[in-house]
Amino acid sequence: MSRIDTLLSPFPRASLLSQPTPLERLNRLSQELGLDLWIKRDDLTGLSFGGNKTRQLEFYIGAALAARADTILITGAVQSNFTRTAAAAAAKYGMQAVLQREERVPGMDPLYHRSGNVFLADILGADIMSYPEGEDEAGADAALEARAEQLRAAGRTPYIIPLGLGHPPLGALGYVRGGAELAAQIGCFDAAVVPSGSGATHGGFLTGVRLAGITAPVYGICVRRDARQQKARLEQVTAELARLMNIPRPFSGGGILTWDGALAPGYGRAGGTARAALQSMAAAEGILLDPVYSAKTFAGLLGLLEQGIIRKGQKVLLLHTGGLPALFAYQNALGFGSGAGAP
Ligand SMILES: *Cc1c(COP(=O)(O)O)cnc(C)c1O
Repeated sequence: MSRIDTLLSPFPRASLLSQPTPLERLNRLSQELGLDLWIKRDDLTGLSFGGNKTRQLEFYIGAALAARADTILITGAVQSNFTRTAAAAAAKYGMQAVLQREERVPGMDPLYHRSGNVFLADILGADIMSYPEGEDEAGADAALEARAEQLRAAGRTPYIIPLGLGHPPLGALGYVRGGAELAAQIGCFDAAVVPSGSGATHGGFLTGVRLAGITAPVYGICVRRDARQQKARLEQVTAELARLMNIPRPFSGGGILTWDGALAPGYGRAGGTARAALQSMAAAEGILLDPVYSAKTFAGLLGLLEQGIIRKGQKVLLLHTGGLPALFAYQNALGFGSGAGAP
């Protein structure tokens, strides 16, 4: 068993990924950008359109099964990929899912409230509740706890996947595993670019690749908060993760890199740079990105290249975290799909 397998072995894991996700070279974009550019296809994790939450859920569902839970409770934005994937994972293991929706992106059109992940969660048979605030992690967690209490009184066994910090970051373990999986596929690289939202993906990935011996910079592209706030969040997530795994954190605070040049106009809104990045990936490689996360992550890579932080000739890894159902919910917001071709 590898050292990372040994470190992860105390944590129960429910199998949701059947095999390593593909690592592909982006030949046309490499040539266009003067890079040796690779993409890790975690949009292809399989379960209900896939994405990064499948890796995170392996450890949450593992813990829920160990606790003999029959109901999973989770909070997310209206177009949350996490809640949709949790509903699928719950179904696979014979549990009910309760999804709490927050209004994090005010002013969106009816398609946003009906299509994409909302539509899929309906098909997957999830129970829905709503929370009126979008920036109150403790309040949303308390509301789930209140629902869990009702379920217990009715003889059920609920398991909460928390939103806020201060809980063992089980989801990040999925990306410790993901980072190690990638390291075995790619060997080495000069820089990696990953999205940074809750921080479970960024923090877990950074920890995983460092444990696998890779010292290259890992840039976390901010999708929710500015670079300074996100770095502080990552400090906490990675410290909690190291504590959970019972190891010293395998990097210093200076190893946490956050970049927010692609964040505007804010969480859940695709501005011109994200839209252009989405279109250029589709046109050059036939690979689809989502408007909330992966398009901004690729826009971040292009921004880092433009600023000379990533340099020509380097071997660069882009982590594709999925999120594709949201494309349909953002059809109007993105302005594609008039039927007349690219606008
Ligand atoms: C949730 C999500 C992210 C952000 O991941 P975190 O672990 O929350 O930082 C990135 N991409 C997609 C598609 C997501 O659904």
